[in-house]
Amino acid sequence: MSRNLLITGGAGFIGANFTRYWCEAHPEDRVVVLDALTYAGNLASIHDLVRAGRASFVHGDIRDFAAVRDLLAQRSIDTLVHFAAESHVDRSISGPTVFVSTNVNGTQALLDAARAVWLDGPRPLPHRFHHVSTDEVYGSLTSDEPPFTETSPYEPSSPYAASKAASDHLVRAYARTYGLQVTISNCSNNYGPYQFPEKLIPLCIVNMLLGKPLPIYGRGQNVRDWLYVTDHCRAIERILVGADANTTWNVGGRAECANLDLVRQLCLAMDAAFAADAGLASRFESCPAARGVSCAELIRFVADRPGHDFRYAIDCSLIESRLGVRPGVALAAGLRQTIDWYLRNEAWWRGVIDGSYQALRGPSDPGNHSRGS
Ligand code: NAD
Repeated sequence: MSRNLLITGGAGFIGANFTRYWCEAHPEDRVVVLDALTYAGNLASIHDLVRAGRASFVHGDIRDFAAVRDLLAQRSIDTLVHFAAESHVDRSISGPTVFVSTNVNGTQALLDAARAVWLDGPRPLPHRFHHVSTDEVYGSLTSDEPPFTETSPYEPSSPYAASKAASDHLVRAYARTYGLQVTISNCSNNYGPYQFPEKLIPLCIVNMLLGKPLPIYGRGQNVRDWLYVTDHCRAIERILVGADANTTWNVGGRAECANLDLVRQLCLAMDAAFAADAGLASRFESCPAARGVSCAELIRFVADRPGHDFRYAIDCSLIESRLGVRPGVALAAGLRQTIDWYLRNEAWWRGVIDGSYQALRGPSDPGNHSRGS
């Protein structure tokens, strides 16, 4: 069965990886990306697909009910995968309003548009609304508490997590109240290609190459679970193809790691990359590894984030046993692959840093925020 997909936020980090993944795995499907191109959206992440006609791009806002409704109807969309969001915890602390507007009101506008097109016509149309959410809705764990399951209570700490929790509730409410066919996935921290360098891993990679400090909150003991982004894409694919509607799935990497240990691993992997390729030293002269010094010398501890959750951990046994989804890329290998991608795609991240990727949408702050996950 071929599908007509709408991917919201498909110019962002996970959305772009998912768009690339889906176009490769399902060439028979028609794929439309809807993205407002905020500071986090970057057309360069999918422009080759758009140019080749493998995906089409619509510059628009999920909060625009009428535009989304018309898009769903005109493109005969039957599957909506909803990534679009404000996604950075630090930004939600300094400016929560846009998080509520995009993540809560935007999701509700999208749900209303879906309902109008799929349910309110002469007869309901076959459809699926997949909502991409986060493990942060569950709040924080101590070091010895069991990981979150799909039935863990919601206890969000940051405005970001609270806005995602609200959007999850709205998605479930539209399923129960109106009969919308929905699925939800709550995933741990993703990393990999095309991630905006305000998040911990790409920030550290880029700062190492530029010889800048690697800022770590507190003493770096906060624990996160890490998942390579294509493993997340595969999990969403399995949910779309194999899961019943009105189900929720936790997706994790079985790779818990304290932030300081993670950054140290990244430093060692970067040191090794420089040791293996003499050409890197002349390309990135400011990187300590260019002088034979470990990148770990750049690590700096900075004041902790307010309300910083201590630990997230995901019990992903349900999706493993029911849908056969297991993380395929181990953390050490994933970090090496990610470093390799940033080394090979210098133009992409330089464009993000110098703001030239924003030519389409005019000047704005490309992200003076850091250290977050
Ligand atoms: P991102 O910030 O990299 O990308 C978000 C995208 O949404 C951008 O392209 C942006 O332009 C677009 N967008 C923002 N507001 C919009 C609007 N009003 N209308 C249309 N488009 C809009 O985010 P990401 O890291 O790729 O995360 C994608 C989704 O996955 C989010 O919903 C996030 O909550 C969730 N998630 C992320 C992670 C992670 O580790 N990054 C983990 C679990 C869940």
